[in-house]
Amino acid sequence: MKQLFKWILSFFTKESKAFKLKIVSELPKEPVEHTLYLEGNVKEDDYWYALLKCPCGCGDNIMLNLMTDSKPCWEVKLINKHPSVFPSIWRTKNCKSHFWVKEGKIFWS
Ligand SMILES: [Zn+2]
Repeated sequence: MKQLFKWILSFFTKESKAFKLKIVSELPKEPVEHTLYLEGNVKEDDYWYALLKCPCGCGDNIMLNLMTDSKPCWEVKLINKHPSVFPSIWRTKNCKSHFWVKEGKIFWS
């Protein structure tokens, strides 16, 4: 029931805004909301880090490691031109948000 409520609520809040993907050679210091940045090499389809602003509104930036040789690491896939992140993002600091990014949308856990 709580999940359903959150889901309905998400249509009325800024959380329903889909994340855009932006590929950059250097991650910005002040990322824009609803944008998922990927740092890496487009030609080689090789990315090292992802960066996004925490969707809960706390204002923190979340940096994700995409390199498989260091842990923890995440995977960003483009589905219908929207980014999906695997596995879920679970912050251990500050707001402790736990959410999934699926096809650019935030699903709270
Ligand atoms: Zn947060």
